[in-house]
Amino acid sequence: MAKRKTLSKKIRFEVFKRDSFTCQYCGRSAPDVILEVDHINPVANGGDNDIMNLITSCRDCNRGKGKTELSDSETIKKKKEQLDELNERRNQLEMMLEWEQGLHNFVEDQIDAIEQFLQSTCGQGFSEYGRKWCKGLINKFGFEEVYESSKISMDRYYDGDEGSTTKAFNYIE
Ligand SMILES: [Zn+2]
Repeated sequence: MAKRKTLSKKIRFEVFKRDSFTCQYCGRSAPDVILEVDHINPVANGGDNDIMNLITSCRDCNRGKGKTELSDSETIKKKKEQLDELNERRNQLEMMLEWEQGLHNFVEDQIDAIEQFLQSTCGQGFSEYGRKWCKGLINKFGFEEVYESSKISMDRYYDGDEGSTTKAFNYIE
């Protein structure tokens, strides 16, 4: 029989965290059940402590599982597939969050560019409301259009005093 290496607290935490502290066999989660880390490919069959071979299982599911079930390669294959799918879904979620963050920053940069132009022209930037408003315009018309309109508005309405600033800002839209 293969020697069982003890799992570190860190790797146990990583497995639980990845599986949202939920038994991957029955769907019950902590603190309703006591969670254990199960080897998908059992140590007796040469399974290692790689995180891909580990899965969160409640005590009931882990202990109720006989050797016969574990040695059934179809069951192992199926569990492995489920785990792969779970991992893929998690990866995609992370990628999506990163992507959304990227988009967000991109729009923020565009607002900054317009604000910089306005500031250099009339000395006034956006209020918090102004930023939101500008973001709405960029989403609606696109950056180029809003930037062009800002230039036109400033050319046409800004004459150096504060009253005309408001007028020019309003004309952008
Ligand atoms: Zn369970």
